[in-house]
Amino acid sequence: MYHHVKELMYTVNVGVADATFGNMLLEQFGGANGELAAAMQYSIQGLNCEDAARKDLLLDIGTEELSHLEVVGTLIRMHLKPMKKARSEAEADPLVAVAGGGGVGLLNSAGNPWTADYLKITGDLAVDLRSNIAAEARAKIVYERLINFTDDPGTKEALQFLMTREITHMRAFAAALETMDKPAFSIGTIAPTPGLVDQFYDDSTGVGESGTTDGAGTIAKRAGLQVVESPIFKGAGLDVKPHKPVPGSEKTSPADSEPVGDTTAGRERRRAS
Ligand code: MN
Ligand code: MN
Repeated sequence: MYHHVKELMYTVNVGVADATFGNMLLEQFGGANGELAAAMQYSIQGLNCEDAARKDLLLDIGTEELSHLEVVGTLIRMHLKPMKKARSEAEADPLVAVAGGGGVGLLNSAGNPWTADYLKITGDLAVDLRSNIAAEARAKIVYERLINFTDDPGTKEALQFLMTREITHMRAFAAALETMDKPAFSIGTIAPTPGLVDQFYDDSTGVGESGTTDGAGTIAKRAGLQVVESPIFKGAGLDVKPHKPVPGSEKTSPADSEPVGDTTAGRERRRAS
């Protein structure tokens, strides 16, 4: 259940209200990487999670994100306040001023309505945790950019708090994934095709503006991938000989979500091991 405590998670102080900055802050209220998106993504993933410990972690962080929504919403309202009276300030965001009365709405900084399309919820815990690590990285960089665009000390401090929490969450999600004890690239229950999975396809030719001929290949080799040239340029191409999918061939974790589809073979294999 949810319970509201009449106290902000972080006390917000604004020295000089800046309606234009308030509009920019809406990105973290009703934007793609904002607090509502984070709260909904983790909470709904939590509802779907079958592993008790990770469910607890998802719901804890989802709930903290709702508290962040409250903090950033309060901060935005403080910045939007002058918009209610002054025409010059209202011009910073006519949608918020005229249609929204100078209050916060579930919009991003460009006035686009919040949408559940922002959420990444696959029903596979290991996949969802990876999405969450990326979501926290995006939230962090947006907060950092906002910090760089304000001179108000109280605003900077509140944003520093919110930005910091995203890195904490990123670490928690990474720990939740690591403690599942799956190999780094193990997703689902069907192992990828041996050989083919190690091939990096060199899909470009020529010398770019920077004069680099094989930047991607150098990176791929460091990851243990074998660079394969296109047959168009007399290369060997990818190894496309057929390989039958083998259910249960991928390394799984007891914390994994129940596989979807006919995975009988996989279950039998796991029972035998
Ligand atoms: Mn947050
Ligand atoms: Mn977060």
